[in-house]
Parts: sequence; C-alpha cells; structure tokens
Amino acid sequence: MPKLLTNAKLCGARNRAGKSCRCPAVRGKARCRMHGGRNPGAPRGKRNGMWKHGGSTREALALRRAATRPCLRCRKPFESEGNHHRLCGACSNRAAETSPYAV
Ligand SMILES: [Zn+2]
Ligand SMILES: [Zn+2]
Repeated sequence: MPKLLTNAKLCGARNRAGKSCRCPAVRGKARCRMHGGRNPGAPRGKRNGMWKHGGSTREALALRRAATRPCLRCRKPFESEGNHHRLCGACSNRAAETSPYAV
C-alpha cells in the first residue's frame, strides 16, 4: 500500500454489516466521501467565479441565488440571476460600455 493511503484517516462510519467503512477519509474530516466527509452544500462554490474567499457560506448562498431584485439603476424589480446580476436587462445593456459588471 502506498504510504499516503496508510497514513490517511479511515472513515469510521458503520456499514450495514456493523463494520466500519474504512475508506480513506476526506482530508481534514473524519468521514469518507460516501459518509458526509464533504460539505454537501453548494460544492460548486469554489469552482465558479462567484466564490469570495469562502467567507459566510450561508450569506453567499443566499446572494448567489436567483431572486427578484431591484435594479441598481432604475430600481425596478427584475429577475436577477444572482448577486452579480444587479441591473435589469435594459440597464445592463445601457451600462455595457462603462460598467465593470458587464462582461
Ligand atoms: Zn465511509
Ligand atoms: Zn434597470
């Protein structure tokens, strides 16, 4: 066995036979992937560009979620895709040349 594997913590979750799982645990956790070692919430967070240094996960989630938000320019509520999406269609078109938010 490679040293890495033998040094890794083993998952202590019990399977149906009453034995422990013994899969290598996720780094820093006491459980393997199958048994909740990973945070099941929003695993895509770190991969997509919206991730902001992992701060307040809950808040980040809420902000990232699509919702009806008031447009920052015209104040009219519109269907926002998430925290990055703060201008309604008309305004984001108008701001396309100047706004750093427009890509
Ligand atoms: Zn396990
Ligand atoms: Zn607007």
